[in-house]
Amino acid sequence: MALKALRKLRTLGAPATPTGPAAAVPRAADGDVLLETVGLTKSYAGADGELPVLAGIDLKIRAGEIVALLGKSGSGKSTLLRCMAGLIPASSGTVSYRGEPLTGANPGTAMVFQTFALLPWLTVQQNVELGLEARGVPAEERARAAVQAIDLIGLDGFESAYPKELSGGMRQRVGFARALVVEPDVLMMDEPFSALDVLTAENLRGELMELWESGQFPTRAVVLVTHNIEEAVLMADRIVVLGSRPYGTIRETVEVGLDRPRDRDAPAFQELIDRVYRIMTGRAKETRLSGAGAGAGAGAGAPLRAETVESAESADQDKRTVAGTPLPAATVDGLSGLAEMVAHRGGRCDLADLADELGLDVDDMLPQVDALDLLGFARVSGDDLVLTEAGTAFAEADVQTSKPLFAHAATEVPLVKLITNSLLQRPEAAVRAGFFRDLLAHHFTSEQVERQLETATDWGRYAELYAYDADRQEYRLDEGASFRT
Ligand code: ADP
Ligand code: MG
Repeated sequence: MALKALRKLRTLGAPATPTGPAAAVPRAADGDVLLETVGLTKSYAGADGELPVLAGIDLKIRAGEIVALLGKSGSGKSTLLRCMAGLIPASSGTVSYRGEPLTGANPGTAMVFQTFALLPWLTVQQNVELGLEARGVPAEERARAAVQAIDLIGLDGFESAYPKELSGGMRQRVGFARALVVEPDVLMMDEPFSALDVLTAENLRGELMELWESGQFPTRAVVLVTHNIEEAVLMADRIVVLGSRPYGTIRETVEVGLDRPRDRDAPAFQELIDRVYRIMTGRAKETRLSGAGAGAGAGAGAPLRAETVESAESADQDKRTVAGTPLPAATVDGLSGLAEMVAHRGGRCDLADLADELGLDVDDMLPQVDALDLLGFARVSGDDLVLTEAGTAFAEADVQTSKPLFAHAATEVPLVKLITNSLLQRPEAAVRAGFFRDLLAHHFTSEQVERQLETATDWGRYAELYAYDADRQEYRLDEGASFRT
C-alpha cells in the first residue's frame, strides 16, 4: 500500500513541496537539533505534595533520526513526550524547539496516539483536516493537503468513511494522516501500534519504515514511545532507555547503527535486543569499554558476568525499603507460572526464547521477572533467567507446601513486611488500607500506590499472612496463618 502511494506521489512529481505551516520554517539539515530538553523535571501532585515522575532529562532530537523512548509502563515515557510536544509544562528545566524555549504547544510537532483519538462524527477527510483547521489553513489548501496525506498513508478511497466503519489498522492510518498533514518537523508517536493486532501492527510499521527510508516522509525526525524492545530496535536510530526507580531518568542511550531494512534474524539484531533487554531490567551495570568503541559494534553484546550481578544484588538487598522497592504488578499465579516454566527447562532459560515460544514480547514478562527477583526466587544472569534454590523449591512444591515457601520469601518484601508487622503490633485490630495508602503516597503517584496495594494484597492473601476485606478496605491478620515472622 505504501509503495502504491509512493508511485502515485512520484507520478504527481511530488516529493514534499511543503504545504503545511511548517513550510515557512527552513528545512533542517540532517543533524540539526530540533528538540532539546535540559534538566527536564516533571512532577504530579500527590497526597504529600509533588511527586517526581521525570528527573534531570537531557535529550536532543536531531533532524534525520528516529528516536525511541523505551521503558516499562509508568517510567514516564508519555509524560516526556507530552512535555516535548508542549502539551504539559515542565516542572523545572527547559524544552526548546529549534533553540527557542517552549511557552505552549510546540509548533514543530504533531502526535499520534495509541487510542487513535478520532472524532466519530467526522469523516476520514474531516478528521485529517482538523489539525490544519486549528492552524488556520484556508479550506481549499486543507482539502488538497488532506488528500495528499490520505494517499500517502494508504487510505485513498476511505475519504468519506466514518471512523466506526474502519478497522483498527485503518483508524490508526487516519491518526497518522492527521499528524502528517501538518508536516511537522518532528512526528511524535505514543505507542501507536499497541492497540493493533500483531499482523496489522507489523504491516503498518513496515509501511512507515518504507516511507521514512524513501526520504518522502514529510517530517524531519520521529520520536517513538514504546515498551516493546523489538519495535525499538526495528525502527530507531537511537534508543533512549528510561528507568523508573524511583522515578524516570535516562538509564542509557543505545545507538542502533544497523542497516535498513532491518533483518530480525540477523545475529546483530538479536544481540542488540539482548543488550537493550539487560539495560531495561536494570541488572546490567554495563561494563562499557572506554567511550566511543563500545557502541553498537562488536563486543556490545558481551555477556554479563553472573558474579557481578549477584554482588550488586546482595548489596541492594540491605537497602530495601518500601520507597525503594516498589512491588511489580505480578500476581502469584503469574509469577508461579513463570517459575514453573523455567523449572521445566532445567531451572535456567533464555528469556527471549521463552517469550518467543509463548508468543509474548519479552517485556510482557518483566513484572513477573521482577517479582521472582524480588522474592529471591530467580536472578537474571546475562540473557537467562535462573531459578535460585528457593525458587526451584517453590516451583516444584505442591500447593500446600508452596504457601509457606512463598510466605517466607514474601515477608522479606518491604510492603508485605510493613503490612504484616503493622498487623502484628495490633493482632486484634484491623488496619485500614488508607493507612498504607498514605504512607506510600509520600513516594509514589496514586496509580502506583493502587497497583502496589493490589499486588501486596494478592501476595499476602496467598501467603496467608493477612486477609483483606475489600468492602471495609481493611487488612486483618489471617487467622489460619500457616506462617508467622
Ligand atoms: P509511561 O508512558 O511510561 O507508562 P507515564 O508518563 O504515563 O508513563 O506515567 C508516569 C507516571 O506518572 C506514572 O506513575 C503515572 O501514574 C503518573 N502520571 C501520569 N500522568 C499523571 C497525571 N496526570 N497525574 C498524576 N500522575 C500521573
Ligand atoms: Mg504511556
